[in-house]
Amino acid sequence: MRHIAIIGSGPAGYYTAEAAQKALGGTAKVDVFDSLPVPYGLIRTGVAPDHQSIKGVSRRYEKVALTDNVRFVGNINVGSDVTVAELQELYDAVVFATGAPRDRPLDIPGAQLGNVFGSAAFVGWYNGHPDFAALNPDLSGKTAVVIGMGNVALDCARILAKSREEFAGSDIVGHALEALTGSHIERIVLLGRRGPHQIMMTPKELGELGHLVRAAPHVAAGDLPDEAEDALLEPGLRKSVTALRQFAATPEHIRAEKSIAIEFEFFSQPHSLEGDGHVREITIERTHLVRGRAEGTGEIERLPADLVISCIGYRTAPIPGIPFDEREGRFANSEGRILPGLYCVGWARRGPSGTIGTNRPDGYAIVELIEADAASGALGSSAKQGRAGFDALAKTRGLDVVTFRDWKKIEEAEEKAARDGAPREKFVDVAAMIKAGR
Ligand code: NAP
Repeated sequence: MRHIAIIGSGPAGYYTAEAAQKALGGTAKVDVFDSLPVPYGLIRTGVAPDHQSIKGVSRRYEKVALTDNVRFVGNINVGSDVTVAELQELYDAVVFATGAPRDRPLDIPGAQLGNVFGSAAFVGWYNGHPDFAALNPDLSGKTAVVIGMGNVALDCARILAKSREEFAGSDIVGHALEALTGSHIERIVLLGRRGPHQIMMTPKELGELGHLVRAAPHVAAGDLPDEAEDALLEPGLRKSVTALRQFAATPEHIRAEKSIAIEFEFFSQPHSLEGDGHVREITIERTHLVRGRAEGTGEIERLPADLVISCIGYRTAPIPGIPFDEREGRFANSEGRILPGLYCVGWARRGPSGTIGTNRPDGYAIVELIEADAASGALGSSAKQGRAGFDALAKTRGLDVVTFRDWKKIEEAEEKAARDGAPREKFVDVAAMIKAGR
């Protein structure tokens, strides 16, 4: 019997469990740990609440979770409740599928001012992550600045721009819906340090900005490169740039019909934030491209900024004693192997890139690697105790494990509490989740 511990129950974790179950069948027992009492990681707390079709993939993970040899071990913090070394004693393979939950720091003066948030916090707030439920962003100002030109920046801008009615059918949490309903934001500036040909936004997601009820995207035609140059772009990016061209071509009187402007500010890097405890202004430095990289021109401009959300990428949370690549912000690994017996998968392996589906081949590759290491004897030969050993340890320590069956009760309670037309109203508090699961 092969005992595998997967830490993290998001897409990378469940694709790895699925791969183990398919490749090893009844010869492997897989425990999927999560620090929260609820599964699915970014599917629950990262994917935007108005993108319900993407969240549907959790049904596939549920099928895996309900197979005999896979079990969910929720509410267990690896690092404090149980150490990695202890898991290594108990399991043949320990796989970090812990994602990249920390914001890449916005390293400019004023970044500590009030109402400046990283996207992990802001996204966590509107998605009901217990760590960020109390964020309470101040939406009483007129201008929000969203730093970055990736899909997370798009999510944040769209969520700030939507009317209450546009959240129908979403699972945005009640506290965020109420706060957004009372928002006074009428200008959302998307700040990109490079140009239209370097955006990281995918076409479908970018296109959504053109269909908002009360907001319109503003792109200055003069910022766009010569159209002939689009031919050199890879097809996805070319489509995104075509969407920018459509935004730029929209006549001003049509755009003026919408009360919220989403402005694309290219070739502008954040320089400093200023305010009186609360952010009020951002200074930006104009840039130009030098061998594809943004280089400051020294030209500084000021923009009002009542709310700043930095969407400049994420980092994996390091674990003491586990080799970490500081520059890349993920575990140091070779193809997912940290050491024989210790692996990483998904964003914890490759950094925060790709779609949810990208994690599927990652998960399958890790299981192949574990098998190769087992076949070469690199995992050692002594029989491990696996889940029986963990259960004994959990009992001795009085750990409050939340099982998949408990989660199903939490899920049922969330579905019962849903607003009209919404799939669920999430618990945003760990104690409330645990109570609902009992
Ligand atoms: P991302 O795609 O890597 O975009 C990060 C953005 O931040 C880039 O525009 C980058 O500019 C900018 N940036 C980085 N450092 C900066 C700095 N110091 N100052 C100013 N700008 C800076 O990351 P993401 O948006 O966090 O998304 C992470 C992953 O999740 C991506 O693979 C994304 O596609 C995926 N995702 C997908 C969806 C969806 O499909 N619906 C939704 C959300 C997220 P440079 O290019 O110049 O570095």
